[in-house]
Amino acid sequence: MTPLKVVAFDLDDTLWHVHPVIVRAEQILRDWLHESVSGFRYDEEKMKTFREDALKEDKSLGYRLTALRRHVIERALLHHLNHDEDAERLSKEAMDVFLVARNEVEFFEGALDAIAEISVVYQLGALTNGNADIRKLGLDKYFSFAFSAEQVGAPKPAPDLFHRALEHTGCDPHEMLYVGDDPIKDVDAANQVGLKTIWVRGAARPEPGDTEADEVIEDIRHLPGAIARLSNC
Ligand SMILES: [Mg+2]
Repeated sequence: MTPLKVVAFDLDDTLWHVHPVIVRAEQILRDWLHESVSGFRYDEEKMKTFREDALKEDKSLGYRLTALRRHVIERALLHHLNHDEDAERLSKEAMDVFLVARNEVEFFEGALDAIAEISVVYQLGALTNGNADIRKLGLDKYFSFAFSAEQVGAPKPAPDLFHRALEHTGCDPHEMLYVGDDPIKDVDAANQVGLKTIWVRGAARPEPGDTEADEVIEDIRHLPGAIARLSNC
């Protein structure tokens, strides 16, 4: 049997709950805009319309989340300021503020210990549809690669992120394990490329997808044990 060489991770909802992170980052973004742009009021409904318009014009913004959010902010600012350059500059500054907050996450208990433990044996990396950044998260200490849907041009469940990781590491599909929380975007998608998979089902316990993960764990703290079982079978 070929030994496992690489363990790649989904990030959001696999290593932390993403919802509270985004809610907080959006609040910080709104506060920053109110403080930085005189008279500007963040209007949820207007932002939603700008978002829908942007997505109609460019469907790829659906997975280019950083570009989409910056674009929406720029449109809102342009509406308010009537000045292209200021709107562009301020939207970039606003995105920097958002991205700092977006990377301030609370890891699931034991997640970093589990990662540290397996990093001694395997090459680790991240494959994400989101815009979390392993450097800002301090994960670059353990992870040697990270690719996003924004970088490869297609979100999971498309196979592109997995193909990029295989190309980058030079390993065969069955030498790579993918760890994720989503039964379709993570487990089914990685299985279809021929990777080994661990489904971190977590407390929400969604229904499985079309394929079975090699291991299912309820808690990320059980990851080293699940990998050990996989490597020995
Ligand atoms: Mg996820």
